[in-house]
Amino acid sequence: MGGYGSGRPSYKQKAEGCRSLDVNYMNRKGCLNAGFTGNWTWSRDGEVISQIGFRTEESRVIFDYRISQRGGDWEPIVQYVPLTYTGCHYGGQRPYFLCPGVVNGQQCGRRVGKLFSGGRYFLCRHCYSIAYGSQSEDRHDRMLRRANKLRMALGGEPGTAHFIAWKPKGMWQRTYQRKQFEIEWCEDQANIAFIRKYSHLLGAGEFERLLDEGTR
Ligand SMILES: [Zn+2]
Repeated sequence: MGGYGSGRPSYKQKAEGCRSLDVNYMNRKGCLNAGFTGNWTWSRDGEVISQIGFRTEESRVIFDYRISQRGGDWEPIVQYVPLTYTGCHYGGQRPYFLCPGVVNGQQCGRRVGKLFSGGRYFLCRHCYSIAYGSQSEDRHDRMLRRANKLRMALGGEPGTAHFIAWKPKGMWQRTYQRKQFEIEWCEDQANIAFIRKYSHLLGAGEFERLLDEGTR
């Protein structure tokens, strides 16, 4: 094994391979409880089109699957994805994947809600944007930048992995809610732009489903 050297995914392989994993969805299904073992499946029109095995340990999920590139031999892949939790505004804990991506020699480690598979591994959208050489100024970036600016103006940190900051002292509740709404709207738009952009990587059913989630 290990003959697929360069790590640069070919277009064909991406087109067939892209699936996504949603940490919140997995959490709701109880899949993140330590000791959980199971399969995650993707289906289209009621038919299973793809399936991976996984098991969950204390602070990570171990995905276990095989891929076949361009109709070649099946290659076994074991991917370790660390988990992390942050407290919520509303109590309880919110899970995140820590992206295991290493792109251009740089470890990613971003806290993300979703991982995508466009080839051999499940990586965050940032890793895919880098790996697939996104256009410099697309709608996704613009929307995220706008959201981040608003987040920081409220005294919070940029990035969807962080909370939106509490209402600053002296700001009207209505004003705060409007800003909060705008941040969430921008991030939804970024999400939708991202999904549209990579729609050619996703199965039709999955594209619709993600878009659905994105607009919720
Ligand atoms: Zn990443």
